[in-house]
Amino acid sequence: MKILANDGISQSGIDTLEKSGFEVITTTVAQEQLENYINKNDISVLLVRSATQVRKNLIDACPNIKIIGRGGVGMDNIDVEYAREKGIKVINTPAASSHSVAELVFGHLYGLSRFLHNANRDMPLEGDSNFKALKKAYAKGTELKGKTLGVLGFGRIGQATAKVAIGAGMKVVAFDPYLEKANLKLEFFDGQSLDFEIETISKEAVLKQSDFISLHVPYQNEYVIDEKEFSTMKDGVILVNAARGGVINEVALVKAIESGKVARAALDVFEKEPQPEIQLLMNSALSLTPHIGAATNEAQDRIGVELASQIINILK
Ligand code: NAD
Repeated sequence: MKILANDGISQSGIDTLEKSGFEVITTTVAQEQLENYINKNDISVLLVRSATQVRKNLIDACPNIKIIGRGGVGMDNIDVEYAREKGIKVINTPAASSHSVAELVFGHLYGLSRFLHNANRDMPLEGDSNFKALKKAYAKGTELKGKTLGVLGFGRIGQATAKVAIGAGMKVVAFDPYLEKANLKLEFFDGQSLDFEIETISKEAVLKQSDFISLHVPYQNEYVIDEKEFSTMKDGVILVNAARGGVINEVALVKAIESGKVARAALDVFEKEPQPEIQLLMNSALSLTPHIGAATNEAQDRIGVELASQIINILK
């Protein structure tokens, strides 16, 4: 049976599938040529990430497709319900990238608390001529240890982030309207493990108590952080959004930075992707990454293997 991984798949995923007798094709076929390619090559499984669109017309035009697989979480690019109505299995890999996103959040948090985002912008330009002034400008760093991290959305990534926070010596408070508590197992290098039970509290309490706030909610119709929420936060809070563009009101964020309510913030996701607002890109209080939360070799490996084992379970 043939599998087209149109947006790529890890070598470990290919190996697992080939061992079970599948042929894996990793050519990237242009969107408008997909229908023709799939039918001509008798493809049974179509694997995508976020680039390839799998809409009703493609599903209708390719009756031999048995599985549509999304390497990653969000399936906005697939007409999932329609495919399922037609008897096609639609699978994804929701857990594979959680720890990678959590580590990116901490990359931003450690960077922001020591001004690394600014120092990295300034050192190439002024590091030789203005060293002492830069040293002074970035002297008032803070430690994360002993501080409170507020997690909004306590699902897979929220919990993975909480584990890293606990490991870093932080207190964790969390809000999730659909979850009362979660058990977190922290696993250490020598085989020891420790269990933590975290009970969620109200959104307001999280906003009021937190020195640092990280968002891990799904996309929704309303902003999760807007002017009202900013006004509830501690003065000088540091914020990270590695969830979805549109969960923070970006205009309200810039205002909150200008007023000093938010000291600094990090964005991995934007309301306008792939062309974020220039006011965000040029804002020196922001640490910025181009939606790379899940983009680690380890996550891609886990995604490939997880997709492969689901395909093998369904078809073998
Ligand atoms: P998840 O479904 O496991 O967890 C989301 C949690 O948010 C759920 O427990 C849900 O009850 C809770 N929630 C829903 N509405 C809420 C609200 N208004 N306030 C507080 N909590 C709310 O999802 P996940 O796998 O943890 O993913 C979280 C987010 O991260 C998603 O938006 C996902 O798209 C995003 N993500 C980003 C990247 C990246 O590259 N930056 C990578 C993967 C996932």
